[in-house]
Amino acid sequence: MYPSRFGYESPKSVAEAVALLDQFGGEAKVLAGGQSLVPMLKLRFAAPEMLIDINNIDGLRYHRVDPDGSIHIGALCRHEDLEFSDVIAKSQPTIAAAAHLVADPIVRTRGTFVGSVCHADPQGDWAAAMIALDGRIVAQGPKGKREIAMKNFVSGPFQNALAFNELAVEAIIPAPKGVARGGYLKLERRVGDFATASVAVSLDMVGDTIARAGIALAGVGGHTIDATEAASVLVGKTLTAESIAAAATAVAAAADPRTDHRGSSDYKRHIVETFVSRILTGIANTSQKAA
Ligand SMILES: Cc1cc2nc3c(=O)[nH]c(=O)nc-3n(C[C@H](O)[C@H](O)[C@H](O)COP(=O)(O)OP(=O)(O)OC[C@H]3O[C@@H](n4cnc5c(N)ncnc54)[C@H](O)[C@@H]3O)c2cc1C
Repeated sequence: MYPSRFGYESPKSVAEAVALLDQFGGEAKVLAGGQSLVPMLKLRFAAPEMLIDINNIDGLRYHRVDPDGSIHIGALCRHEDLEFSDVIAKSQPTIAAAAHLVADPIVRTRGTFVGSVCHADPQGDWAAAMIALDGRIVAQGPKGKREIAMKNFVSGPFQNALAFNELAVEAIIPAPKGVARGGYLKLERRVGDFATASVAVSLDMVGDTIARAGIALAGVGGHTIDATEAASVLVGKTLTAESIAAAATAVAAAADPRTDHRGSSDYKRHIVETFVSRILTGIANTSQKAA
């Protein structure tokens, strides 16, 4: 199918992109990697009057760790930049574990981390990772910048908290209290598929004690699920067979899966419980070896 007719603009600066978004009053769409938007256009799930292609704006393709330990990911950082990043491999285990599981290698060369978070697909990997990591999105609008906490950013399936005239310019992952531990597991029907169920875990550990626990789920609800409240059973504890089992049970209860062609709701809930347990056990084993 062909998309509906649309106009095309290729601004050279963030200010120009924001001015265009403002001018078109909700009838424009930002084009980043195009790996979700172009299929949406072709299926006519989206029919914007104007596409605002941000790929010619210099300075948005970056990721870095700041001296305070926070990680900053620019709007044009591609999935593959994170997949092959030494910086991420050394500093951010949840992102490192998820990066090679997003889509397939071709999509990963074009698709962007920030675009994926903005797309807010209930099966999307990066929105789940960002919620587990307690991340923030920096939005730039006509009146300047504001930060939106990730837990408030995904406002529903394929919906985010950006105003029509705001561009997401950066994702921020805060510095951990202590050491960042984490993981990401995804069940997919075949390589490159969206999640049947996936689990993102992020722990801040001070010695053996868990100072912060973030867990989020993809594919097992009508939107990305923030299971951080369920994960709070871990805070102040060490990773033991008992604390791991308690967290896995609580997080599985927070899932809201539907039976479909990918599996029954019971099966998906079981996968969530198994994945939480597997990631936490892996972290416990790694910490023991390091000690
Ligand atoms: C075959 C295939 C398999 C896939 N498998 C997976 C998978 O397993 N897991 C997964 O998570 N994803 C998967 N995807 C989606 C892919 O990861 C996309 O790259 C991602 O969802 C969107 O990023 P993008 O840069 O391509 O955004 P685009 O497609 O350009 O945009 C997506 C949406 O976000 C908006 N947007 C983008 N950037 C910004 C911005 N900076 N500010 C404001 N709004 C913005 C756009 O307007 C649009 O509404 C798959 C895609 C394909 C084609």
